Amino acid sequence: MTSSCTTRRSVLHAGAAGALSAGLAATLSGCAQPMAPAVATATPDLLPKGRQRRVVVLGGGWGGLTVARHLRQTAPDLEVVLLERNPLFWSCPLSNKWLVDVVDTQFLVHSYTAPARRFGYTFIQTEVTDIDRAKRRVITAQGGIDYDWLVVSAGIRVSYEPWFGNDRRAIAHTVANYASAYVPSAEHLALKQKIKGFQGGTIVMTLPPPPHRCPPSPYERACLMAAHFQRSKVKAKIVILDPKPRIAPITAGYRTAFEELYPGIIQHVPNAGVKEVDPFNKVVKTAAGDFRFDDAIFMGHHQAADLAWKLGAIGTTPDGKSTNWAAVHPEFYNLKDDPQVYVIGDSVGAVSPQFGHYPKAGHVANRQGRSVAHYIAQQAKGQAPTPIIIDNLCYMLVNLDPLEAIAVQFDYKKGPEGQLIQTQFDDNDRRRKLWDEDLNWYRLAVQDMVGA
Ligand SMILES: Cc1cc2nc3c(=O)[nH]c(=O)nc-3n(C[C@H](O)[C@H](O)[C@H](O)COP(=O)(O)OP(=O)(O)OC[C@H]3O[C@@H](n4cnc5c(N)ncnc54)[C@H](O)[C@@H]3O)c2cc1C
Repeated sequence: MTSSCTTRRSVLHAGAAGALSAGLAATLSGCAQPMAPAVATATPDLLPKGRQRRVVVLGGGWGGLTVARHLRQTAPDLEVVLLERNPLFWSCPLSNKWLVDVVDTQFLVHSYTAPARRFGYTFIQTEVTDIDRAKRRVITAQGGIDYDWLVVSAGIRVSYEPWFGNDRRAIAHTVANYASAYVPSAEHLALKQKIKGFQGGTIVMTLPPPPHRCPPSPYERACLMAAHFQRSKVKAKIVILDPKPRIAPITAGYRTAFEELYPGIIQHVPNAGVKEVDPFNKVVKTAAGDFRFDDAIFMGHHQAADLAWKLGAIGTTPDGKSTNWAAVHPEFYNLKDDPQVYVIGDSVGAVSPQFGHYPKAGHVANRQGRSVAHYIAQQAKGQAPTPIIIDNLCYMLVNLDPLEAIAVQFDYKKGPEGQLIQTQFDDNDRRRKLWDEDLNWYRLAVQDMVGA
């Protein structure tokens, strides 16, 4: 099979280093297109179906790139098509380090067309607008595409409705001024500009209620911003409003970093769930008191991505409320009523009565992507899939002078009743070696996803 890119929108290549930031801002800001109304029966074909059975992968992030690449090896007889709205792969892991110039843009940004060519799948840049499960067809801004297997790895969506209800003006003002940069988008560029241009004062950072994307990363961001302000002699205070009763994970490692490295700069406020936000008058009301701010990073509530909702995959609690996350088999990640439709990555809901959700980490999305490539290959051969147990590992940089990191590792095994059991190991001893390991971990992951 030859790889192709049939997009009608422009595709940028990662090599265009000089113009990258401006180009990315321009192209990514155009990505938030309004969802087109889906009329499944009337949509023309995005890609006609050939004789091969087809896997369609939605979302070219950590999970989607992994599954597309590995499927070409595990199931070479299947056609693989990856659909993604963005023109370039923007990695969220290591983006905190990029905010303060520890790594450069080329570290985070990669071409989609190069891995598609390298591994032999089809990449199409398009907005996915709907999924017609009855017809096994995905609807995009540019046409429909039929699938035999579907893998959805669309990440998260950030919801400000719990704070603002339907007040679109408050939501728009918050997104425009205080966005968190927690999804691959131009928000990262805006946040970097904000940090670089900060003249001093109080920045509040609200953490979402768990579960949320990459739980240790907001604390890492606070440390790196504090280190940057120290270096550039900007008089700043960072107030972390945390709905949890304590810093977690890597509790002691972060606490000592805050106390020893950033006294008077970082203030961690526990039990500070947000009750009300006035983004115009710059006040946040929380369960731990009211906070005025000069600037803010507002992490709204995290939920499964829109596409998991369109798939009809969102679970419900025993009393009938939405869980906001996809209900999937805990080891195979398929929908309970369809063995050939999978959801992986951060959209996945609770998988275990012991620990609830897998940590919403790129490492997990990558491991799930590899696993699903095996499951689909086995199904394609008419075999029952054999479950694969995954792991997780996360490094967080807390100091710039010298470069020092802390880490957390999660191991999984089956409990006596077949349920998944998690063991967590915090490595609180900050040191240079863990930063070197982080770089190595990232290089291997990128190699696995895009082959470069
Ligand atoms: C600041 C920060 C630091 C982090 N650090 C780490 C770390 O050190 N280690 C770690 O393991 N993890 C880390 N993570 C978490 C990691 O980024 C996520 O867990 C991982 O990206 C999840 O993979 P995913 O495939 O579910 O989603 P994503 O990687 O977000 O990919 C989803 C893709 O789907 C696309 N998409 C969504 N909807 C549509 C649509 N309708 N049409 C077309 N395309 C669509 C999106 O554009 C996106 O490219 C970090 C995250 C952040 C924000």
